[in-house]
Amino acid sequence: MTRPILALVLFLTASAAAADVAAIAKNASEWRAQNEGAILSEFSDLLAIPNLASDAENIARNADAISASCTRRGLSVRLLRIAGAPPLVVAELHVPDATRTIGFYAHYDGQPVDRARWKSDPWKPVMRDVEGNEIDWQKAKSVDSEWRIYARSAGDDKAPIIGMLAGLDALHHSGRQPAVNLMFVFEGEEEAGSPHLAGYLAKYPEVLRPDAWVLCDGPVHQSRQMELFFGARGTLDLELTVYGPGKGLHDGHYGNWVPNPIVQLTHLLDSMRDENGRILIKGFYADAKTPTPAELEAISKIPDVEPALRREFAILATESVGKKLNEAIMYPALNLRGIQAGHVGDQASNTIQTEARASIDFRLVPDETPASVKALVERHIEGEHYKIVRETPDAHTRATNAKVVKLEWGSGYPPARTSLDLPLSKEIADLMTEAGHPPVRLPTVGGSIPMYLFQQPDNRPVIGLPIANHDDNQHAENENLRLQNLWDGIEIYATLFAGLSAD
Ligand SMILES: [Zn+2]
Repeated sequence: MTRPILALVLFLTASAAAADVAAIAKNASEWRAQNEGAILSEFSDLLAIPNLASDAENIARNADAISASCTRRGLSVRLLRIAGAPPLVVAELHVPDATRTIGFYAHYDGQPVDRARWKSDPWKPVMRDVEGNEIDWQKAKSVDSEWRIYARSAGDDKAPIIGMLAGLDALHHSGRQPAVNLMFVFEGEEEAGSPHLAGYLAKYPEVLRPDAWVLCDGPVHQSRQMELFFGARGTLDLELTVYGPGKGLHDGHYGNWVPNPIVQLTHLLDSMRDENGRILIKGFYADAKTPTPAELEAISKIPDVEPALRREFAILATESVGKKLNEAIMYPALNLRGIQAGHVGDQASNTIQTEARASIDFRLVPDETPASVKALVERHIEGEHYKIVRETPDAHTRATNAKVVKLEWGSGYPPARTSLDLPLSKEIADLMTEAGHPPVRLPTVGGSIPMYLFQQPDNRPVIGLPIANHDDNQHAENENLRLQNLWDGIEIYATLFAGLSAD
């Protein structure tokens, strides 16, 4: 076959596939339009079950309700259990001829609520229009996609669960099969910090080992465009305490003779980080990957929301001079969370304090690890002539060292990043685009989520695909989901299920 003909054949197959993808999305959209009442009923019923991870009885009811919804759709469901943890719901669909399994993750627990701040009961779902008027949607003739359903976890993170199930229904009713094996994994304690997720992944490696993971959690981009994220920063906490004299001293009698721990601490912090966010600890950037050309290109296409954010936050300048937000978060950060020492205002006293404390959180990027960062920080602090201790120092330690600092490290966890150049990364973005929902591609999110757990042990691709509106009030009062986001999610899930290549 000569090259032009080969090119033509490739073009025709590619465009045929594209047309098919558009048809999948269109069918899903049509099916959804005819079944909005049923979708919202199932969503509303799930939202009505209280879902704090610590509320064992209700969290089990959530797991049971989701299991029943999956079983009804012909999925094979297992409730995995670890003592003291909410069950992990795993629902699978095996497709003949498919050799690839894609895991879709969401969580069914929610953040604690401050009921006094909610307009209505967080576990009695209410529909409201854009003006905030309550709507009796079950009696309404049609559903407005700008309406929002208000309840805890409407956005974070029950919407994707309902979206995926509705996406399966939409496929089924248009006579289509998923093209890949599907594994749905629903966690019940994400908002409590996922204390057993590592345990589940370790205990059930033969179950929880899809070829790639799609994490359906979080809100979409502030521009309302759909979004994919390919990484998350790791995290590591540090508490530092610098010690002065063994008792508080008159700062007139002893000032500029007895060392002042507040001054020592601020100088130590100054030696670690400048005003532009640059970390001054030697070697800190050696392990930090610089953005790839594909990542820089994706960043350049992210809609510019920075002027709006500056207005909203009432700031003029930003720390990372010349770098956009999404490029700045590709690098590690040293955030100063707080300083505590002495007193100010009415409480101020002329005293040289006995100690001064600071609290720091580091955000890590590949290939940094908590251990590598710890080592660099401690070497730096020793280079500033400090004696590092792990417990509160006794008088002897203080009397025999010019500068003493106690370091208390949190356990932290490593960062994760999936390459934008992977075939799967491109495939998902292309499918969403063909379905009419071109995604903003964030090479990483700035915050920390334990994506690395899903990557282990052999660096599996992990891609984030949130569907909730950015203004969904997640974690706060009056959490909500804009219906159009659920509708878009259904189309996207149906398109991925049926459009991803089988191998
Ligand atoms: Zn979440």
